[in-house]
Amino acid sequence: MSVSSPNLSAERELTRQSPSAVKPAPKPVNKSGKQLPVLPAQSTYHRYRRAIQFACFLIFVALPFFNVMRFDIPRQRFYFAGYELWISEFGILFFSLLFLLYVIAAASMLYGRIYCGYFCPQMIFSEASLAVEDRLKKFINKRFIKLPAKRRQLMSSVSFYTVLLVASVFLAFVFISYFVEPRDLLGRLLTLDIRTAGGIAGAATTLIVFLDFAFVRQTFCKTICPYGYLQGMLGDKETLLVQYRDGQGTEKVCIECKKCVRVCHMGIDIRNSPYQIECIHCGECIDACEDVLSRLGKPGLIHYAWGEKGELLTDKKTAFWRRIGLRDAKRVIVALVLLFYASGLFVVLSMRDNVLVRIAPVRSELYRLGDDGRVYNKFRMTVANRQSKDAELMLSLENLPGAQLQLDQPLKLKPAEERQLQFEISVPPQSLPPGVNHFQITSRVEPGGETTNNKMTFITPTERKTK
Ligand code: SF4
Ligand code: SF4
Repeated sequence: MSVSSPNLSAERELTRQSPSAVKPAPKPVNKSGKQLPVLPAQSTYHRYRRAIQFACFLIFVALPFFNVMRFDIPRQRFYFAGYELWISEFGILFFSLLFLLYVIAAASMLYGRIYCGYFCPQMIFSEASLAVEDRLKKFINKRFIKLPAKRRQLMSSVSFYTVLLVASVFLAFVFISYFVEPRDLLGRLLTLDIRTAGGIAGAATTLIVFLDFAFVRQTFCKTICPYGYLQGMLGDKETLLVQYRDGQGTEKVCIECKKCVRVCHMGIDIRNSPYQIECIHCGECIDACEDVLSRLGKPGLIHYAWGEKGELLTDKKTAFWRRIGLRDAKRVIVALVLLFYASGLFVVLSMRDNVLVRIAPVRSELYRLGDDGRVYNKFRMTVANRQSKDAELMLSLENLPGAQLQLDQPLKLKPAEERQLQFEISVPPQSLPPGVNHFQITSRVEPGGETTNNKMTFITPTERKTK
């Protein structure tokens, strides 16, 4: 669990506030005292993290705007991968949520808390807020060097909280866009609506985001994040870890520079154990150690390695499937189940009708004889346009000679419009055998030409009446 490092907070504070005050690593020299060439650090996880986190930020902002993912509460819709799913489409919703949950669980089992280190918005914005605070502090200290320290401190705080407030409004807006349509939300924001549920939620979320990134930050990940604990539980003896290795040969290589500790945002010393629950497997300490020891012409002591055996992630001799995490039968089964859910989701989404058409006969009255002598049957139809564009629905009849359909004009449907209506079909007298006759109503949707065949029955009088 946690690590006892008495100077830890002081060191972190020192790094954050004044990196230049940190004691530089010793210069590498050979036995005759000549300086050794400085080797470039081999590890570049920091750069990967920044690139991935930036991509995640863009994705986080884009998802609700392009309907890739949104639980639209006012409309009772779930937007997933561009599809507008209705709450009634329970099967697809269930499959989507199960798939997402399983992706998270499988990732934790294979790669530990890699989600926290590379993809989690809480971590991304916590680190961004620390970086902005540091930069503003440095800028103000440099620019207003002649002002008293207290005054500079006040200016730094005011400017940081102002920037954070603007960022909080933006982040809260994006977050609520996962539940309310963004244009609708923008309207509420512009009118400073704090009376409706959406407006109140927006104001409350802004306040929470502000307090979170001003004061809580990574403390959330270390203390109350349920997903962090869940990830810890899902790991086993083959899960990817960040591991420190030294003292395996005759000589201990670690020079106790503690750079690995200072760069750790979670405030731990990875040298104590690879199983500390706070470790989010971000790899920053790997880069830090590589950076220091490469100057001494030595490899770093901290690595990504698989579980108890400690096989290195970067070991090129390991088989490809073991290197991507498929290290035992359990993991192969997990990957197959994931594939199954993904295929199931793909199939149900591709089979889904963009315009739902449900037709059923109304049998409270089996048939009706019209004044024109024709026989009438009544039908009930439910239509739902589950797309974000207009649609036209046309019905046609098959295997019903001489039949006339009351709905002979295309039915125009607006996006997300749902309608229930009744219509009649009539046939000329004695054109069909008495009793039950089977026929088909075909519905065709434009644009797209999506067709649905509905098998129906038409009932005619068994004893012919003359009117
Ligand atoms: S593990 Fe590496 S970074 Fe950490 S104290 Fe030792 S030499 Fe320095
Ligand atoms: S110990 Fe290393 S990998 Fe773990 S959280 Fe700290 S910096 Fe990241």
